[in-house]
Amino acid sequence: MKIGIPRALSYYNFYPFWLGFFSALDIEICLSDYTTKNTLSKGASLVVTETCLPVKVYVGHILNLIDKGVDKIFVPSIQSLKNKIYNCSKLRGLPDLIKNIIKQDITIIDATLDLSEDKKLYDFLFEIAQYFNIKDTNKIKQASKQGFQMYNNFYIMRRSGIDYKTALKYSSQNRVIIPNVEKEYPINIALISHGYNIYDDLTSMKIFSKMEKLDVKVYTAENLSNEQMTEGIQALDTQLYWANELEMTGAAGHFLQNNKIDGLVTITAFGCGPDSLMVEKINKNSKIYNKPILNLTIDEQTGEAGFVTRIEAFVDMLFRKKRANILKNIDFNNDDIKFINKQNLKKINNK
Ligand code: SF4
Repeated sequence: MKIGIPRALSYYNFYPFWLGFFSALDIEICLSDYTTKNTLSKGASLVVTETCLPVKVYVGHILNLIDKGVDKIFVPSIQSLKNKIYNCSKLRGLPDLIKNIIKQDITIIDATLDLSEDKKLYDFLFEIAQYFNIKDTNKIKQASKQGFQMYNNFYIMRRSGIDYKTALKYSSQNRVIIPNVEKEYPINIALISHGYNIYDDLTSMKIFSKMEKLDVKVYTAENLSNEQMTEGIQALDTQLYWANELEMTGAAGHFLQNNKIDGLVTITAFGCGPDSLMVEKINKNSKIYNKPILNLTIDEQTGEAGFVTRIEAFVDMLFRKKRANILKNIDFNNDDIKFINKQNLKKINNK
């Protein structure tokens, strides 16, 4: 038994769960390959131009799985993960979109998860198992336990600051590692976006390694607890409506109040309605909290050079702002500090 999982959209949030779940049911997972320009252009050619970048990428991954010979592909319809909290219409209608544009003879596993209705998570998992003729309820329950175990391992590592790829690797091996020494950086930035925008190396243009080269520590929503993000939503005087709003408005609300964070960077897909509303709210509040913010929008035309230049200019501005703030309070009789560069800024931060 084999299932194809596209390495796109909800893969970046829930893959550890699905790995545990399907492995326990003896179903082999075939993942699509990492995103390339070819994946994107093939996906984009099948949908209307206005479709957001992550969905174009997703369609490209479906085509990649078909090329690999997979005939059962997992395309769940995730409507709602909490009472009256909904996903965007594109995510909710994903199976219908795929069925309408893919003409090959494959099975789309289009189980629906809607926790705003009476349907429970277990009904959703049972519906998926039916595609493989698995009806043993105990086996399905055990599989969901294994899924949650792997997901929790992943979640714990991400909360403790382990990077995404390392956390995914260790949780896939059912292991947990926790770092005992945290490296200090002169500048700390909160990256506000969805997993599918920032952990896909093609769409994010490897933003994490670019930030590392600039000596910047990046924090994301996954470093926060649900409680911190819920408080973040309240701090921005808004209400939770979208299913992925916690990782945008909630995380931004938390980081705007966090003195350790020097600035925020938002990354959103061109044409994303929910994100444009959330970013507007975040921008208004960044002025109130006096925290610099950089808004980046991505689509298939985004050039890497312009993207990098804007990040470099933003980081440079943060560094100069921080240096100016420190200079205000500095003791100029201290011979240690004649000139503040990135290295001794770290030392001053520590003091
Ligand atoms: S939330 Fe925005 S970026 Fe994500 S799938 Fe929906 S429209 Fe696209």
